[in-house]
Amino acid sequence: MNIDYRLKFALFLILAAIVFFMFKANNIFENKIVTYQSKSITFKDDTRPIQIGSTDETTYKIKKGDTLYSLLKQLKINPLLINKIVNDENLNSFKTLLPGNEIIFSNIGKKIFLKKFDGKSAVDLMEISGDRFKLKKLTNLNSYVAFKEYKIERSMYESALKAEVPNNIIDELMIVFGWDIDFVFDVRVGDKVKVLYTEFYLEGRLLGNSDILAATFINNGKEFSVFRFSQQGVKDYFFADGESVKKSFLKTPIEFAAITSPYNLKRKHPILNTIRPHTGTDYRGKTGTPVKVTGDGIVVRANFSNSYGNIIDVKHFNKYLTRYAHLNNFERNIKVGSRVKQGQVIGYVGSTGLATGPHLHYEFRINGKHTNPVNVSMPDAQPINQYNKAAFNKVTKERIGLINNLSSI
Ligand SMILES: [Zn+2]
Repeated sequence: MNIDYRLKFALFLILAAIVFFMFKANNIFENKIVTYQSKSITFKDDTRPIQIGSTDETTYKIKKGDTLYSLLKQLKINPLLINKIVNDENLNSFKTLLPGNEIIFSNIGKKIFLKKFDGKSAVDLMEISGDRFKLKKLTNLNSYVAFKEYKIERSMYESALKAEVPNNIIDELMIVFGWDIDFVFDVRVGDKVKVLYTEFYLEGRLLGNSDILAATFINNGKEFSVFRFSQQGVKDYFFADGESVKKSFLKTPIEFAAITSPYNLKRKHPILNTIRPHTGTDYRGKTGTPVKVTGDGIVVRANFSNSYGNIIDVKHFNKYLTRYAHLNNFERNIKVGSRVKQGQVIGYVGSTGLATGPHLHYEFRINGKHTNPVNVSMPDAQPINQYNKAAFNKVTKERIGLINNLSSI
């Protein structure tokens, strides 16, 4: 009797648990926003309900696959109105939703408000009420200059995250310093990074930040400072002397060169007689013609290969790699780890490896991808022009002054 009672009780508990979890799961996966008494809003497939603090607003982070259409559908907006909204010409930043973007939702009575920071200095507002909607731009944002600094400990990325540097700023730091500092070979524990940018607030809520205004990287004791400046409406980064942070490459690695075999992904190999993509450009040259490295960089390969013969690979600015093959011989002192300057002679034309005659096989890779060196569009590395020089000097002086005043490392 006693056992039977306990069994029944246990069964009741299990049933209760099942009902409870079904109810809960139903709420979480329901294809709409559930508004509780506490005004928490849950999206489909979002296993963590978004908690609203003391305000009526809730922030939703855009995920891969989200579209304005799918979000509005979850808000139970009438499909006819959704169609009207997504086709509106004045959608502004709502038009492009990228993973990680944030949309702030709120509802007052029957009105639904969507806010999105436009990434520059304003907020796009969408107000939906019944079967009507309005689009507005809010420009009453407060902006403050933000400063972050850190010492590099284990990795550049980790140290930046620990210092609460926003992700877009971390990415930009890699770009603006990537032309001078090799992140694999050069970065040392104890290197320092200091960065100035702008934060935008709407009614006390941090909405986002600008790009880098100025930044300093102290690498192995050597200081690099970069400054944002726009010329003819184009934003770019420059050193204090007005030179662009970007570097360009020489067009050709040997002088007076004639191309004998162009970049061709369907070429028949002259010796192997099979289709072998030609991922470089062949320049004819007499044996012994000097070969010049096309950009500043670090030699990452200098050895003999059966097909390429004597081969040199040079890594430039983290994302570029150039290759020089069939060399007769290397210039003295050229070995893995050698630092080379644009235009420096690194080797001499030859016909080592699988080559029909003396020529230089030259390759250009961007982020590991073969690129036709003849067509590759090089970064535009224009310096500050004379007309902008005074304004630029004023900006750099102000910003470096701020960095020096705020820095404590
Ligand atoms: Zn070749």
